[in-house]
Amino acid sequence: MAICPQCEAEINMSDVEKGDIVYCPECGIELEVISDVPLELDIALEEEEEWGD
Ligand SMILES: [Zn+2]
Repeated sequence: MAICPQCEAEINMSDVEKGDIVYCPECGIELEVISDVPLELDIALEEEEEWGD
């Protein structure tokens, strides 16, 4: 169980690893697993930087 940093919903997850991307079922935000023990989530920023053209 982890807490969404955006809406504080409890998210039940299994088989996730550090670095995985999950979606909050409440607010739909994209979250990155920053720690698996204990399970912690952070908001995954959508960085779509394109270098060059
Ligand atoms: Zn949420």
